[in-house]
Order: sequence, then structure tokens, then C-alpha cells
Amino acid sequence: MRRRSLLHWTAATLVVAARAPAGLPAAPLRLVATTALIADLVGRVAGDRARLQVLVGEGVDPHTYRPTRADIVAMRRADAVFANGFRLEAQLEGFLEELARERLVVRLAERLPEERLLANPTFPGRFDPHVWMEVALWRSLASIVARELARLDPSAERVFFERARDYEAELERLESYVRDVLATVPREQRVLVTAHDAFGYFGRAYSFEVIGIQGISTESEAGLADIERLVRLVVERRIPAVFVETSVAERNVMAIVEGARARGHRIRIGGRLFSDSLGAPGTYEGTYIGMIDHNVTTIARALGGEAPAGGFQGRLNGIE
Ligand SMILES: [Zn+2]
Repeated sequence: MRRRSLLHWTAATLVVAARAPAGLPAAPLRLVATTALIADLVGRVAGDRARLQVLVGEGVDPHTYRPTRADIVAMRRADAVFANGFRLEAQLEGFLEELARERLVVRLAERLPEERLLANPTFPGRFDPHVWMEVALWRSLASIVARELARLDPSAERVFFERARDYEAELERLESYVRDVLATVPREQRVLVTAHDAFGYFGRAYSFEVIGIQGISTESEAGLADIERLVRLVVERRIPAVFVETSVAERNVMAIVEGARARGHRIRIGGRLFSDSLGAPGTYEGTYIGMIDHNVTTIARALGGEAPAGGFQGRLNGIE
């Protein structure tokens, strides 16, 4: 048995050697990431050892995204597909399950320890997929990505783990900014009203009450009764600002603002938050760090806290 596996291993080595002549680096891995968030994380760990394709583009809602024929082809051809999981990519679930029989499919959020996850009230027995909203939770995925990439390209294992550690250190600095800035928001104003329930992990980690108008997934619609209830809540609690999201329609949030104003309450849109999507590719807000910086700086300033308009690294623009 042992001898047979040794022979097998030698044959595989010869094949690899034939593909990558001595002195030349191995061909980069072909990876597909479902969302820009996942691509940002995998890209930080993989560096130039991988070519990455993203399926869900800027400002597009992953809950309702339907894969194109080209997406399906790309996933079938990839060395691995990295996804979030927990039904974030609801329309892709069936396909990914099928693909996992022949390809490496990594649903990153599903690798987190259960005790750190929040329940999903819409789907009993499932967890809330928006794990990136807690920096410490997202940071813990970097080493998982490194391990999976090392399975695909063992020659780069050391590089992957080094890059993961560097990124973890950056995220630790980001997290202390997040905690410092959010702690300046007066306690009674720590209420975050947004278009859908993407901020559950944020609320738990940083002690905010979080209210999403549309529930955990945008697959369902908010009713008039929900809107009425929220109008009463923001008026009674004197909440100064509510937030829109870049990947979800604004109409529900606007309805709350109008309803509250009609009752004489002063309220404004506190800004546009990134919930399930990053900013434009190539911009600071198009990275995870930029996205979190933008959100936290916007939230703190709109709800009576103190945060520099330029954010964590002085790289933000256009925050009121
Ligand atoms: Zn969402």
C-alpha cells in the first residue's frame, strides 16, 4: 500500500516538474470568488500566485444575484471557488454543491466556529452570512484561506501564511480604530437603522442596536406595517440619522425618513454604507479595509461620535 502511494506521488511530481521547468515559477492558480469581499481577502493572501475572477460586481446584491453562463464556465474551469456561504449566494447554492464533487469549493463563513456565529431568524438552523461586519471574525479567515491555497500550491505555502499574517496585523490596527471611534458615539444614540439586516455582527461586536428594514436577506420585501413600526421607533428614540446601502434600493429608508419628518422629527440620511458590496475596484473603498473604514467613520460622525473625516488612514473622501 505504502509503496503504491509512493509511486503515485512520484508520478505526480514528474507531471508538475514537466509543467514548471526549474527556475520558472509555477503557473498562477485560477480562482473564482463569488463576491468582491471574498476576492479581496483571497487576493491579499494569494498575491501574484493566483488569478482571481469575481462574479458579483460593484453595487450588486449577492442575495439575489443569478450566475451567468460565463460565470458557470469560469467556475468549472477554476482550480478553486471561494464563496461566503450560509445562503448569501442563494441562487448559486445548488450549483456550488454540485461543483464541490469535482472541484475545491470553500465556503469561508461556514468554516468559522459555530459559537461565534449569529442565528438567521429567516432560515431556522442557518446562520447570518454577514460575518465580514466584525473585523476580528473576518481576520480569522485569513489563515483558513492560506491553508486552502497551500493545498493547491504547496510550493507557496510559506508565502501564503506570511501574507496572511501581514494582513492579520493590518486588520488588528483597523479593529482598534473601529473600537476607538465607535466608543465616542453617545450610548443612547447607538442605534443603526439600515435597509437590510447586514449589520448583526457589527452590532454584537461594537455594542450597537441594529435594525434592518428588510431582514437578513433582500429576497423578501418589507411591508407597510414594518415601515410604520420603524417610523414610530426613530421618532420615539430621537434617532438623528438612518443609513442607505450601496447594494440595496433606497425606497424603504426614504419612506422612514419621510414618515418621521411628517411627525416633526428631525432626521437625515447619515450616509451610504457598504453592506454586501465593496466600492469601485481600484479605489480605497473597493477594499475590505476601505469599506469598513468608510462605514465606521460615516456611522460615528452621523450619530454624534467623533471620527476624522479622512478615517483610519486619512484616505477617505467625501464623508460629511
Ligand atoms: Zn445582505
